[in-house]
Amino acid sequence: MTDPIDRASGNERVRNLVGGSWVDPAGVGRIDVTSPSTGAVIGNVPRSSAADVAGAVEAARRAVEQWRLVPLKERTQLLFRFRELVLADIDGLASAVSRESGKTDGEARAGILKGIEVVEYALSLQNLDDGGALEVSRGVTCELRREPIGVVAGITPFNFPAMVPMWMFPLAVTLGNAFVLKPSEKVPFTACRLGGLMMDAGFPPGVFSVVNGGREAVEALVDHPDVGCVGFVGSSAVARSVYTRATALGKRSLALGGAKNRIIVVPDADHDLAVDGVVSSFTGCAGQRCMAASLMVAVGDVDEIIDHVVERAGKIRTGVDMGAIIDRAALERIEAAIDRAARDGVEVRLDGRGADVPGELAGGNWIGPTVFDRAEPDLDCATRELFGPVLTIVRVSNVGEAIELEKRSGYGNATSVFTRSGAVARHVAQRSSSGMVGVNVGVPVPREPFSFGGTKSSRCGGGDITGRGGVELWTYLKKITSKWETQPDAGWMS
Ligand code: NAD
Repeated sequence: MTDPIDRASGNERVRNLVGGSWVDPAGVGRIDVTSPSTGAVIGNVPRSSAADVAGAVEAARRAVEQWRLVPLKERTQLLFRFRELVLADIDGLASAVSRESGKTDGEARAGILKGIEVVEYALSLQNLDDGGALEVSRGVTCELRREPIGVVAGITPFNFPAMVPMWMFPLAVTLGNAFVLKPSEKVPFTACRLGGLMMDAGFPPGVFSVVNGGREAVEALVDHPDVGCVGFVGSSAVARSVYTRATALGKRSLALGGAKNRIIVVPDADHDLAVDGVVSSFTGCAGQRCMAASLMVAVGDVDEIIDHVVERAGKIRTGVDMGAIIDRAALERIEAAIDRAARDGVEVRLDGRGADVPGELAGGNWIGPTVFDRAEPDLDCATRELFGPVLTIVRVSNVGEAIELEKRSGYGNATSVFTRSGAVARHVAQRSSSGMVGVNVGVPVPREPFSFGGTKSSRCGGGDITGRGGVELWTYLKKITSKWETQPDAGWMS
């Protein structure tokens, strides 16, 4: 694999991928990357400037002129090679993901494999019959073609260093666009490794670029007149500002934001399924998933299930079964939220503060699973995204109240229900205000070809990011109307 990282300094010094080469940007200053699991500085990323972004966009613009004319089948062949390379490099990629994001090895691999599913969906596009032609009047034909937008950008968060970029760029480039990725400055290594694999797969220089940095790079990308579409995944506040900025310039944009997902548990639920579903949903990736359920809505008497949730979560070994929090600031924010909930009078059934992980991981950002019971529904812990392994339980007396609570939330990524009753499941699924609903599934991420996307402040813009939604996001429909004179005297026509 092409090595994108300059190790000369002993510290991993990340570069940008521009026009097929790894370059040191001119932008002033670098941002340290720290390991969530040890607290040590493990490298640094450039703070790319508007001029650096402009260089990447210009290389992408030149590349896309030819790339968009390459037949879909040929573009797909390169993506197929990329898929093979990712699978061959899965150990290296998983270790990069764990190192920079603090995930366990299993979680790192699962994220990469989920990204591969999107690649496989993109591979299938060559076999879909999309578009068509019709003779709309004598001698006049209308043809519908799906065309790439041109240069497009993706801005991604820290919590899935491989998967979230792979929600976007495989579809975008296969559809004929040139893609500029701005990964989270907290997790640049995996994105660069994916960039190396894209080069090794044979994608022409400029078709896939990586520009590192923070807000300045994001704003320069969004503002650049040659960037036609902006995909964003991250927190709701930034999603809204990126979406507003892009659409004010008349660009297409889809910006996915944060979440406060809930699991409704009713008394007839399968006990083990519900306990597993709730615990794995709020503790997986240490709660740093936009699909993590951090709110359990307990309907009626489900005390036995709650007792087992607390017991099971209490056995999770921080630093072994559960990974670290991304940085010190996030850890302190979560701890402060726990302090506050305790002051607000919730029943703290499990308190993860002060989790101690010995040895070389002692300096990491650790917190254990935390469970609050009998929280008032309007408390901060029941309404705000905490993005840590914290479960808040709100008690209600019937499914109607659970639905009302669900609808009041400002977020609309996911709602799940655990029940043995088909009627209850259908009732919740029909009335839920979320974009993704689970029935006896704690993390209801749709599998390809079904698309990923929420509602309310979990999403700005129309459509979804993967599946069919991704195809629509990265393309526009071109209508070609043709009229040809008939030439009755040209014998070869018949
Ligand atoms: P974030 O919003 O802080 O950062 C996301 C990206 O935006 C990064 O690349 C970052 O460099 C950039 N950025 C940050 N502040 C900016 C600003 N002021 N202006 C312009 N760009 C800016 O998000 P994060 O902390 O990296 O990720 C966690 C959040 O992402 C959570 O809220 C989580 O729910 C959400 N998320 C949502 C989904 C989804 O599909 N809805 C998926 C994954 C994560």
